[in-house]
Amino acid sequence: MLNCKVVLLGETSVGKTSLISRYVNNTFETNSLTTTGASYAYKTIHLKQYNKSIKFEIWDTAGQERYRSLTKIFYKNASVAILCYDITKKGSFNEIKNYWFNQVKNNSPNDIVIAIAANKSDLYEIEEVNEEEARNYAKSVGAIFIATSAMNSSGIEDLFKAVGSKFIDPNYCFEDDCGDDKKDCDKQNNDENNDNKTQKEDDYKKNNFKLEKDNKNDKRKKKKKCC
Ligand code: GDP
Ligand code: MG
Repeated sequence: MLNCKVVLLGETSVGKTSLISRYVNNTFETNSLTTTGASYAYKTIHLKQYNKSIKFEIWDTAGQERYRSLTKIFYKNASVAILCYDITKKGSFNEIKNYWFNQVKNNSPNDIVIAIAANKSDLYEIEEVNEEEARNYAKSVGAIFIATSAMNSSGIEDLFKAVGSKFIDPNYCFEDDCGDDKKDCDKQNNDENNDNKTQKEDDYKKNNFKLEKDNKNDKRKKKKKCC
């Protein structure tokens, strides 16, 4: 079992706490979630392709991001940083570029795995951040890019699988243009999509979302998903 500390960073209200709740407890609240005190949660996954299990220790801020007052302890021994922005708030993406990315680079080991989560993807009709631009930025800084929604769950499993894979294998490829490796990734994505199907259908029912709308979302996701 590998231990992996993950920190979630980004502006207030982008959905960091919600992403963790969805991933760890499969819950979602529409009210803003105030995190009191330092908070972390655990989740273990098994990555078939590496035949390894990873225990994620996922750290949430306690609102210090608002005052830019995260301490060194927060970053200490982190193996993965997930930088989150809200696709409906351009400023939250700008702050990733202008502030959060540098914070991670200045406070963490060189080999930290960095991912950018474009959260609230369910609100794509009012998006302010061009996804291609964000994807290109992520590529330029060597970060994994995934569109997520804590509300309808999309992208979250993929996000953690991707950071876990890169944590195990620094050469793990998560780009559209990664040649032959992509074929393996595509195959693996297909297998995993099939595995997840039933779970997804349950989620849809549970959350009472219109299947039609989610299908639309899924198509967007498939089009944009890379390996
Ligand atoms: P944090 O400050 O970054 O931890 O953000 P929160 O997790 O507290 O979320 C802030 C607000 O955004 C809450 O009202 C959430 O319900 C909402 N929210 C979080 N994620 C999503 C999402 O994926 N889609 C939508 N529509 N709302 C979200
Ligand atoms: Mg929070």
